[in-house]
This record gives sequence, structure tokens and C-alpha cells, in this order.
Amino acid sequence: MERGLKMTGQRRVIARVLSESHDHPDVEELYRRASVLDDRISVATVYRTVRLLEENGILERRDFGGGRARYETADEGDHYHLIDVESGQVVEFTHADHAELLRRITAELGFELVSHRLELFARRLPDVSQEQTDQQAQTERKGRSRP
Ligand SMILES: [Zn+2]
Repeated sequence: MERGLKMTGQRRVIARVLSESHDHPDVEELYRRASVLDDRISVATVYRTVRLLEENGILERRDFGGGRARYETADEGDHYHLIDVESGQVVEFTHADHAELLRRITAELGFELVSHRLELFARRLPDVSQEQTDQQAQTERKGRSRP
């Protein structure tokens, strides 16, 4: 997580909170969690640290709508996000066919695929429970490719 960055005590706390968060927190939420561990941390420090970690490729910024950037560590591996437009819940998943399709489209246009993103904004079907979604996402997650 550190990659040669100079890590002060406060930065270290923020970095730790981030690597333990798997729910794509925004800066306000990171600040709340970090200040539980160290109440001297200010929201400005969290902003600065997040920007620094992002510039160094340790963090990735996500945009799930709603006007706030959300973050996750870059070592989470390739995966996609589905955002429940009603609850705001974020479901992570992978899909091998989708990646293959994108590679094919890119090749047909004469390019080599370097990276891509996919965000699905969706509403849960009335007859599908949270558990069913979790189960499906878990299954998909096992097949997650790690570079
Ligand atoms: Zn994610």
C-alpha cells in the first residue's frame, strides 16, 4: 500500500482505514472512520492524503453518481460495479464474457485494450432478495482475476 511514499502517522492511519474498507467510502466517511482511530486527523488531511494516494496509483477514484467521489484501493483487482439506484448499495462483480467482448471490439477498431470501466445503475427486481444478489456476487468474485 505504501510504494515508497513518505507515510506520516496520520497518513498511515488513513491508508489503513482505506485498505480495510471494502464499501467504497467517500472522503467524509473516511474522515469519520479515521478520526475514531486518531482524533487529531482533520478532514483537510483526509482530502490531501486521498489526493496523494490517488496520484501515486494506490487509490482509485470511483464515480457512482450523487456528486461525491468514492474510493477503493487499487489492489482490489479488476471488477465492475453495480449501483442500486434506490439504496445506493454497490455490488462488485466480474464477468469474463464482458471483458472478452471489450477486447474484441477494441481489436476490431485496431486497438489494444489497456483499461476499461463499467458501472451499472440498476433497480433491484421485486422478487429478488439481497441474499440472492450477495450469493451471485460472491460466486463471481471467486473468479476475479488478479493481475
Ligand atoms: Zn470496487
